[in-house]
Amino acid sequence: MTKTRGYAALAARAELAPFEFERRALRDTDIGFRIDFAGICHSDIHQVREEWGSALFPMVPGHEIVGTVTSIGSKVTSFKVGDSIGVGVFIDSCRECTNCLNGLQQYCLEGMTGTYNGYERNSQNVAFGGYSNYFVIEEGYAVKVPSNLDPAGVAPLLCAGITLYSPIKHWKVGPTSKVAVMGLGGLGHMGVKFAAALGAEVTVFSHSAHKEADAKAMGAAHFIVTKGDDWHKPLRKKFDLILNTVSADLDLDPYLSTLATDGTLVIIGLPGKPYAINAGTMLDGRRSIAGSMIGGMPELQEMLNFCGAKSIVSDVEVIKADYINQAYERTVASDVKYRFVIDASSF
Ligand code: NAP
Ligand code: ZN
Ligand code: ZN
Repeated sequence: MTKTRGYAALAARAELAPFEFERRALRDTDIGFRIDFAGICHSDIHQVREEWGSALFPMVPGHEIVGTVTSIGSKVTSFKVGDSIGVGVFIDSCRECTNCLNGLQQYCLEGMTGTYNGYERNSQNVAFGGYSNYFVIEEGYAVKVPSNLDPAGVAPLLCAGITLYSPIKHWKVGPTSKVAVMGLGGLGHMGVKFAAALGAEVTVFSHSAHKEADAKAMGAAHFIVTKGDDWHKPLRKKFDLILNTVSADLDLDPYLSTLATDGTLVIIGLPGKPYAINAGTMLDGRRSIAGSMIGGMPELQEMLNFCGAKSIVSDVEVIKADYINQAYERTVASDVKYRFVIDASSF
């Protein structure tokens, strides 16, 4: 067992505070690593605040984890001490179902084992996440981090990055695509960078007018402020793919009206309440609504390699642990540029 320092919420909606706990002793196929940086995902906030239903406390959130390997189990073959390592939204899965065998561990038929807010697989051990200074991960659920990238900017790739990369790949975004990204936050800004890197014409739908210059610097060609009743009318039937990363409840209908014939709006943001769908808008143009959740282990590594080759990282504001609660407030207020990342040496 290894004594570990982190930050936890002791109860739903409580402020996060310093917290000590033990990580499990290394098994043969485990890797122990010092956490260097941990991103703050809006999903952390949803769970601390029980916006998705009841949660497990004390909770150490954090599923965008980058670190440096400090020890390996006797059967570990793909990592050595000193390597850069990343862990994302899940730490295990059944490894036997068709989805796991196809590298879609996020859709494991038995349910993926989340990095926190639950138990380690087939165990009574609470899974504590990345807002901490040390981690233990089974080798098959860790990825290699390209050495040319700034590790603080890499941390958000482990959730925000893969969550946009996966649908962008699945819906085959390329140079002829017209893509719109809803919400320029942690996830959305990665969607802009990836779609632009693949040659698409990217539009950002934002309710924050002041983000326009940033969006364009990230690769967006157009920036639409979604204020008033008419913003969507000039954009009718324009986009092949809309990536909805908005964390708040929203009327989807104006956005759906901007989908081209056979276009798809992918739901990625996960607010607590169901969406209302206007059947007429869906019928007109054979439009689709789909969903997408993070990505599997092979795609996570593919995304990091793509980022290494293209020098893509997240735009981050690095903070110390004692700023986490303020970072939560600023994230909820859409005041994020464009991901808060905790310097884990401050735990
Ligand atoms: P974030 O950094 O807070 O970004 C969300 C953005 O949504 C904000 O920056 C804002 O962009 C927009 N927004 C917020 N409130 C709004 C409102 N009332 N009306 C219109 N737009 C609003 O959050 P994130 O970390 O990117 O996460 C986004 C969502 O994705 C969360 O719900 C999270 O739980 C979910 N998520 C899903 C997956 C998955 O696998 N599908 C993975 C990770 C996270 P503008 O200021 O530009 O409008
Ligand atoms: Zn996340
Ligand atoms: Zn499985």
